[in-house]
Amino acid sequence: MDCSTIKKTLGIALLSMISVSSFAQDIIARQAPSDRRLKDVHNVKLANTVTSIANLENPAADIYTDWTDAVSRCGGNCPANYKIDLRGFHMPTPSRKVTSPFGPRWGRQHSGLDIKVYIGDTIRSAFDGKVRICKYDGNGYGYFLVIRHPNGLETLYGHMSKQLVKAGQIVRAGEPIGLGGNTGRSTGSHLHFETRMLGQAINPAFMFDFENQDVTGDYYVLGTGAISKSATASAARSANRVEAENKAAAKQTAQKSVTHSVQAGETLSSIARQYGTTVDKLCKLNGIKSNTVIRKGQVIKCS
Ligand SMILES: [Zn+2]
Repeated sequence: MDCSTIKKTLGIALLSMISVSSFAQDIIARQAPSDRRLKDVHNVKLANTVTSIANLENPAADIYTDWTDAVSRCGGNCPANYKIDLRGFHMPTPSRKVTSPFGPRWGRQHSGLDIKVYIGDTIRSAFDGKVRICKYDGNGYGYFLVIRHPNGLETLYGHMSKQLVKAGQIVRAGEPIGLGGNTGRSTGSHLHFETRMLGQAINPAFMFDFENQDVTGDYYVLGTGAISKSATASAARSANRVEAENKAAAKQTAQKSVTHSVQAGETLSSIARQYGTTVDKLCKLNGIKSNTVIRKGQVIKCS
């Protein structure tokens, strides 16, 4: 095929995409999920061809005003009812097993979905984008990545055994970005997957259906329910708000039993400090002595 034939074919493909309204596409989606998946594969190819490098150098520049290495502190303004284009997606893993949902868990906010993967499994970028963060967080995400996408979303991939890309690197949807693992605050190998908008975590299940290996629709409209107006008005303020909510949630569940999986290098006193308690109380709760040696992976009661 010569260059002009490729251009012509692409042009026709684009025209046929535009001529189908999103409403019609939704109906098609409901009626024939398998057809839609095929169409999505098609879209991935088109998106790869038409998303310009210029777009990816500064993804979603209309929304974000900064580029830092902090997960939840992003400056910018989110327009009301922002429409996130989910076409051109690629599932981060073929695993269909969600082992932990988004929401409050063990006295803190679980800001993503846990998907069962094994150590060494390939993890792929959900959309085209640019890697914003590539770091190690020993008490949290382990080896993790944050990628900013032209559709306004940021995706986070945690607990990996290895990162395959670097900060600042442009990636394509479906490109391998890391390997599954069990690093950081994690018990058992899994992928911790987050979707964020201006630093605010949104339940990934609103957009990604791992069980069916599909997105929930061509678009996800970010209403005021998913991300509050005040949250989008000031990213710094909203980050504080989330922290305050997390603390409140932690307090509320403090009455219930909170457990902790011991990480390498931790001691009873470091854990006690982490949970605002004392070594004595930890010993009583767990029926151990202050000189008892605790092992990595051991689960202990903290309240
Ligand atoms: Zn998780």
